[in-house]
Amino acid sequence: REISVTVVRFCLIEGDGIGPEVSRATLRVLEAVSKRFGIGFEPVLCEAGDEAAKRRGSPLPEETLRKAKEIGIVLKGPVGETAGEVVTVLRRELGTYAAIRPAKTLPGVSPRCGKPLDVVIVRELLEGVYVQTEYVDVVSNSFAVALRVASARETERVARLAARIARGRRGIVSIIHKANVLHGTCGLFRDVAKRVLEEEGVVVEEYYVDAAAALLVRTPERFDVMLTPNLFGDILSDLAAELAGSLGLSPSANVGDKTGIFEPVHGAAFDIAGMGIANPTAMMLAAAMMLDWLGYRDAARAIEKAIEDALASGARTPDLGGNLKTMEFAEEVAKRIEAGN
Ligand code: ATP
Ligand code: MG
Repeated sequence: REISVTVVRFCLIEGDGIGPEVSRATLRVLEAVSKRFGIGFEPVLCEAGDEAAKRRGSPLPEETLRKAKEIGIVLKGPVGETAGEVVTVLRRELGTYAAIRPAKTLPGVSPRCGKPLDVVIVRELLEGVYVQTEYVDVVSNSFAVALRVASARETERVARLAARIARGRRGIVSIIHKANVLHGTCGLFRDVAKRVLEEEGVVVEEYYVDAAAALLVRTPERFDVMLTPNLFGDILSDLAAELAGSLGLSPSANVGDKTGIFEPVHGAAFDIAGMGIANPTAMMLAAAMMLDWLGYRDAARAIEKAIEDALASGARTPDLGGNLKTMEFAEEVAKRIEAGN
């Protein structure tokens, strides 16, 4: 009899503030996944963030960067003051070209627009105006320009990713652009994305970004996967997560060809750190995204479902009006995964 043993090795950056608490809760959930699905987990603890900066003189110590590049997969808790430094370097070094941000209304959480939301935003991460090539006229100091970049290569890559995600959902990709004004860059993004998505056999729709923002509030059910250039995706991601009612419960992933950084969207929440009452949902959902990315669809879905079932049964941490501690909520989720419901 053949026995296959799969081991998932990943860098675990616990982060600052509530980071270690939500990380511990997430490891408990992965232990449950391990029992139910026979997947082994090998978290490699790596230091990064404010604490690392104090102790090691850098928010992203050499050793952490080396391990992250070698392993390629990072599960990361929230980082405090040094968040920007950590994530920009990690993104660059791991070559992540797309950000994936699901926005889903969870049970017991009221959507801000009165209707439940379930969309995934796939955002191009290397180009657009975020190439940060800007010129300021130093003589007058009253004139500045910024460069906006779009290439067929990057657009194609991110469009294929959007198609892959859509196939595991309702199979619809909405291209978000402003090609009526930005004929060159947005025109190219729209045309290349459309060709690739049609090739991939998904349903293709397109919206101007301003209309998309309005329709996301009015009729969110029309959207499934939204494919966006860098800047538009940055803005629409927060809008969608907040509309879903769960900005603080949202995970996010930055992915490359064989790499990925998975993290909660919320910050270090220093005000409640060490109290054992942080909500670990976003970090758990980040772990689910990591498993999904690695091809463990069933395990990822089991985590999501266990969280939804736990919330639906009334299990809540104080931020959602309940009285469960972080680890008690983790137990509620873990036991549902182990029970295989
Ligand atoms: P940062 O600068 O690290 O992004 P911030 O103050 O901008 O921090 P967050 O730390 O994300 O924002 O959160 C703001 C507040 O929301 C926190 O102070 C905390 O009270 C609450 N909060 C955030 N995340 C959680 C969580 N996982 N569980 C419970 N409460 C949370
Ligand atoms: Mg913040």
